[in-house]
Amino acid sequence: MIVTRFAPSPNGPLHLGHAWAAIVAHDRARAATGTFLLRIEDIDGARSRPELAEEFRADLAWLGLSWTEVKPQSQRVERYRAAADALRTAGLLYPCHCTRAEIAANAAAQGPDGPLYPGTCRLHPIEPGPDVAWRLDMARAMALAGPLEWTDERRGIQQATPDLFGDVVLWRKDAPASYHLAATVDDAADGVSVVTRGIDLFRASHVHRLLQALLGLPVPRWHHHAVLVGPDGRKLAKRRGAAGLAERRQNGEDGPALAAALRAGRFDSSLFDTGICLADTIDLAP
Ligand code: GLU
Repeated sequence: MIVTRFAPSPNGPLHLGHAWAAIVAHDRARAATGTFLLRIEDIDGARSRPELAEEFRADLAWLGLSWTEVKPQSQRVERYRAAADALRTAGLLYPCHCTRAEIAANAAAQGPDGPLYPGTCRLHPIEPGPDVAWRLDMARAMALAGPLEWTDERRGIQQATPDLFGDVVLWRKDAPASYHLAATVDDAADGVSVVTRGIDLFRASHVHRLLQALLGLPVPRWHHHAVLVGPDGRKLAKRRGAAGLAERRQNGEDGPALAAALRAGRFDSSLFDTGICLADTIDLAP
């Protein structure tokens, strides 16, 4: 049975880009009489605003979607800790106290998320303490896992190249598990069989595939969908002025009509600002 999920972070209101992501996940499950899950990804420390979860539910219902809600991430921290402990016991994690500024100053190359970690604390190990992050020793992890493949429903079989990210942080200083660890552990725990998410996160799936191998988790399929961009070619974002769904809902707009226009790709309709369209490239500017 197909299980998909929409996994928003309650850091800000949902906008059209989220509506589209939710619709893709919802419709992918419904087309196969599967299950569509909602998972609130609320472990982003100070940025997380729990009251937004209620607003998200109202937004999704307004769009005409129905879902099964699973536990929010804030209630799963022990699972993430167990996963991190297993990786640490296997000798695959090391503590790191480098700041963003230090990494930027010493990085020799860029990764998908910014400057690539230059390996400072792997080369010069530090004592673990409460204020450290834990990084994956990527070379060691890949050697242990061996060559890995994963399948995207739209782009076919992929050879996993998680080393694009270098030694990723799996346990953060300022919050529990990183996105990579939490999302991978949760998708397995929730029985997600098709992970749908925006094409801008395509590369993250290389890391998730590696974590599945290291943690002995089932391997889903992926479905990276095109994402909505504005006239500047950048992903819609609240901070760049994308109208929030809650605002549109409260203004009395017709949610199912908006969902239908998104499904039909009718971006020339008056429901959308001029210049909004779908972009399907992996190299989307952040
Ligand atoms: N919480 C993540 C986000 O909002 C989820 C990404 C994913 O679907 O894996 O970007």
